[in-house]
Amino acid sequence: MSRWQELERRYYLQVARRLPVTLVRGEGARVWDEDGKEYLDFVGGWAVNNLGHCHPAVVDAITQQARTLIHTSNQFYTVPQVQLAQLLVENSVFDRVFFCNSGAEANEGAVKLARKYGRLRRNGAYEVITTLNSFHGRTLAMVAATGKPHYQEPFKPLPPGFVNVPFNSLEAIQQATTDRTCAVMLELIQGEGGVYEADPEYVRAVSRWCREQGLLFIVDEVQTGIGRTGTLFAYQQYGVEPDVMTLAKGLGGGVPIGAFLVKEDAAVFEPGDHGSTFGGNPLACAAGFATLTYVIENDIPGHAGRIGAYLKARLNNLRSRYEWVTEVRGRGLLLAVQFDREVSERVVLGCLEEGLLVNGVTPSAIRLMPPLIITEAEADQAVSILDSVLARVGAAAV
Ligand SMILES: *Cc1c(COP(=O)(O)O)cnc(C)c1O
Repeated sequence: MSRWQELERRYYLQVARRLPVTLVRGEGARVWDEDGKEYLDFVGGWAVNNLGHCHPAVVDAITQQARTLIHTSNQFYTVPQVQLAQLLVENSVFDRVFFCNSGAEANEGAVKLARKYGRLRRNGAYEVITTLNSFHGRTLAMVAATGKPHYQEPFKPLPPGFVNVPFNSLEAIQQATTDRTCAVMLELIQGEGGVYEADPEYVRAVSRWCREQGLLFIVDEVQTGIGRTGTLFAYQQYGVEPDVMTLAKGLGGGVPIGAFLVKEDAAVFEPGDHGSTFGGNPLACAAGFATLTYVIENDIPGHAGRIGAYLKARLNNLRSRYEWVTEVRGRGLLLAVQFDREVSERVVLGCLEEGLLVNGVTPSAIRLMPPLIITEAEADQAVSILDSVLARVGAAAV
């Protein structure tokens, strides 16, 4: 264990299951550890580094903004905040934006909005329907929204007002809808849950149901947003117009920022209803504006769609050669490889040894969420490392 790792054990709250690597530098789709070893990064800081590490467009924007104005209070207008809000609205079906600092906070804001909406428009309804195996963040309310009993158990009692129902079942949502319901909140692809896609027919039916019942349809695009699935936002592939969308991860090019976007109809907040000291600050918004501008101007979503299809085809080729690799799933550059046995930890450690970072999203599946700017050669390199690791792990299992 290196000195930094020993110090971490001593001083840091032990909540992360870390891999034995201390990263000190990154560029593009590559990172380096303290010994100078190079890794191809297919974790991308948890689907955050959509433009790769230290992208010049982001670095320049942060540097320039840091010299100009880092922070002010939200009592004042600031330029980057307005620029980023305008860009988001002009490139989506939404009319208004609120900025915060993380995905959990974005979802909290969306739920507060839904509760006010329920109070005003639905007789005080306050309950939000979410799905099992979802992930919406780590605040107390988002732990209640996240449909994973083992995340919830240690923190009970949880805030009331959430109902977790099976994913991909319209009937479950219909049955859970009562006079108390004000919204349905969904991930279009359950990312942390293991890369499970919502059935397009289900998404359209949920959207219709929400419209009929007067419920807000909230999509949590914290992981799927900013080009990751092949379009700027994933909802664009489902032929639906949600009322609310939440963003975070990829929005700031690595700088912490979250947002929720809302249609005018549902924009029920008034001055004083919601806020955040850091939310929408000039530094984070300048990073977001530079990131989103680059993503849009260079059709990064289109690239993610094409390279994602290429990578998925190459992974499917691997699947056909290892009978214990049972499925490749996901869209764009949010992919998972499923095994019929619990070997993901061994696969992750094997890849690490050979210079590839991947995420063991469940005991029996790995998730790939590389920067969206990866080249075909980088996809090939990742597949070739994975091939060699699968061969070793497979041989050991026999
Ligand atoms: C990561 C994630 C969150 C939580 O975001 P934080 O920034 O960690 O609070 C919420 N929803 C989804 C879908 C996510 O992937």
